[in-house]
Amino acid sequence: MTVKKTFITEELARLKQEGLYTNIPVISSPQGAWVEIGGRKYLSCCSNNYLGFCNDPSLIEKVKKYVDTWGVGPGAVRTIAGTLAIHVELEKKLAQFKGAEAAMLVQSGFCANLSAIPPLVGKEDLIFSDELNHASIIDGCRLSRAEVVRFKHASPSDLDAQLSLYDDRNCRKLVITDGVFSMDGDIAPLPQLVEVAEKHGAMVMVDDAHGEGVLGRGGRGIVDHFNLHGRVDVEVGTLSKAFGVVGGFVAGSVELIDYLRQKARPNLFSSAMTVPDIAANLAALEELSVSEERVNRLWENGRYLKKGLKNLGFNIGHSETPITPVIIGEALDAKRFSARLFDEGVFAGAITFPTVPMGTARIRVMVSAAHTQEDLDFALEKFQMVGEEMKIISSRK
Ligand SMILES: *Cc1c(COP(=O)(O)O)cnc(C)c1O
Repeated sequence: MTVKKTFITEELARLKQEGLYTNIPVISSPQGAWVEIGGRKYLSCCSNNYLGFCNDPSLIEKVKKYVDTWGVGPGAVRTIAGTLAIHVELEKKLAQFKGAEAAMLVQSGFCANLSAIPPLVGKEDLIFSDELNHASIIDGCRLSRAEVVRFKHASPSDLDAQLSLYDDRNCRKLVITDGVFSMDGDIAPLPQLVEVAEKHGAMVMVDDAHGEGVLGRGGRGIVDHFNLHGRVDVEVGTLSKAFGVVGGFVAGSVELIDYLRQKARPNLFSSAMTVPDIAANLAALEELSVSEERVNRLWENGRYLKKGLKNLGFNIGHSETPITPVIIGEALDAKRFSARLFDEGVFAGAITFPTVPMGTARIRVMVSAAHTQEDLDFALEKFQMVGEEMKIISSRK
């Protein structure tokens, strides 16, 4: 008897009918300030290429050199085939950059959460998780089988209240928060969360995916931003955003990393990053270690665009980072807005429920150090045109 697979057909039809089916645009150029789609150039306002490293000559050059020396593949998982010296070098340099004792690379930021959480808490234990945490944190929590208690977004007082309820439960407790929340661009109140966690004897973990290369001195991340070195037990990082490549890592004490190398399943059962990934990340890190220029340009661009959008009358929420949400409201309006921007040569996707709350559908503008002021003026001109046309903002004419 054949297995009935009509549920696949039905679910695809439902997604399409409800406008939830995602079509992925195919880009026929490198990622950069401008990208080519279907033979036409678009200003890219939706990549996480914060610092413009995706297509940077110094990264490309290092990749070519390293591929000639080291080949391309890691051979197998590190515990079986050994590990290339360049992986160890990148780990050391990342730890140094973040001001942590040690770091362990894995294949992605997503895998880094799956690596860090299950070894730290199990069935008998408790996780306290910000209600807006990233999907990969949620999945890491589920894999651990620990009980998950959600606390109100960015609320140290609610975390305190939730932890208090379990003070007599004698188990491991782990507080987890995103560093920068990617939909609104707000920053977790990490010093207060750490204080509350310390009071209740809980470990603290922060996922700094949108903070690396953005926050702190020269992009050293959220722990540096708040000067909390040594007080955050676990830092999760990604190399796919500001670093412009791909890869993930966990940083913390020498002992924690030693432990994770023995326990984390993405390290034990999945092969390491490829040589080109490592080479490109080393090149990005080398530049970041000596120059704050790109990070400063990113923030300048963010301020410029935000000011422009605000002056036009857009609701840009309460972002504290270069992430700039332009809140439209209804999902269909946001989708229409995005489609009209696209007609006009601006590539900026709509983000709708369930990724953001009902009624707060938005265009999320991701600013990059790769954007010039002319690029940002072009974006502002098109936002004004579509905003007036759709009566999201009032006309200036
Ligand atoms: C993007 C993101 C990840 C996933 O990172 P990848 O390296 O792309 O897998 C994990 N956590 C947060 C908070 C993110 O924003």
